[in-house]
Amino acid sequence: MATLEIRDLHVSVEAENGPREILKGVDLTVKQGETHAIMGPNGSGKSTLAYSLAGHPKYTVTGGTVLLDGEDVLEMSVDERAKAGVFLAMQYPVEVPGVSVSNFLRTAATAVRGEAPKLRLWVKEVKEAMAALQMDPAFAERNVNEGFSGGEKKRHEILQLELLKPKIAILDETDSGLDVDALRIVSEGINRVRSTGEVGTLLVTHYTRILRYIKPDHVHVFAGGRIVESGGAELADKLEEEGYESYVKGGA
Ligand code: ADP
Ligand code: MG
Ligand code: MG
Repeated sequence: MATLEIRDLHVSVEAENGPREILKGVDLTVKQGETHAIMGPNGSGKSTLAYSLAGHPKYTVTGGTVLLDGEDVLEMSVDERAKAGVFLAMQYPVEVPGVSVSNFLRTAATAVRGEAPKLRLWVKEVKEAMAALQMDPAFAERNVNEGFSGGEKKRHEILQLELLKPKIAILDETDSGLDVDALRIVSEGINRVRSTGEVGTLLVTHYTRILRYIKPDHVHVFAGGRIVESGGAELADKLEEEGYESYVKGGA
């Protein structure tokens, strides 16, 4: 079983008045098959953690380590990370002009699997995954992210997750901007992938509502650039009732 190990991770961004440290020593271990929720107030550094794991060039790692089964993830290019089985939904957030969803997914699958999926099987796989997410088949022919609504972007993320079958998936604010029906469909997609027992999921979110559909094995409170408390699913219930105030006052 694959294990992602984040140890004492420190990350800075270049701000107007010089580098600013955002992550201040993050420790977290995610194993294949586990679902971890990272919850915290706005501005606490959750997206910075996700982007740093994605290898986004804006973020500079100034200390600590990230290992996938002992391999140094921080030394890997964005493509190498994907190939190693780390899935980051925000890896391709931009519009990709002239590239259809269908071609984009096949290219991504080819990169991750090391060989192009057989066309006929692939078409069937994509169709089934799209149907499960209640997506219009015409969506496959649209250009990636071009004019996608918030909900379409999120479904496209989960479609990638279902088709690419990563070992570790990092989902940043997958629940934001979704109406109740879309939230349920997207959550069901995540639960389907989860039920294979073959993906470790890092579910990054500000709100507790997605956790009504997805029961995490572990919940971590993120404040001031680090994890300040960890617990089981019951910790999310506590956050729903009490919010983040006590954490922010104390530390951030
Ligand atoms: P979250 O996802 O938890 O809301 P972020 O990771 O987006 O938090 O942001 C964490 C902190 O880093 C915020 O205070 C934000 O203003 C700051 N930050 C992010 N990018 C930059 C940047 N380029 N320059 C200065 N500050 C930044
Ligand atoms: Mg430290
Ligand atoms: Mg964020």
